[in-house]
Amino acid sequence: MTTVAPHHTSRECSACGRRRDITLAVRVYRCGCGLVLDRDVNAARNVLQRAMCPNPGGDTPERAEHQRRAGAVLPASA
Ligand SMILES: [Zn+2]
Repeated sequence: MTTVAPHHTSRECSACGRRRDITLAVRVYRCGCGLVLDRDVNAARNVLQRAMCPNPGGDTPERAEHQRRAGAVLPASA
């Protein structure tokens, strides 16, 4: 069993990791990287990614690749 910190799971893009402030009224998560996903599905993907890779600085290869393609700027300290 793995525990996952739930912070920002519904605000963070599950593809590129960027964070957007969205309200509960927003049901579809849209990100500048091109991701369009039901907000609950996006949150579930974030939870799954955290469960598999709880260290924020240690992204999965798929996610790192997506971040490169999306041109996301990663914080140097993360
Ligand atoms: Zn994104």
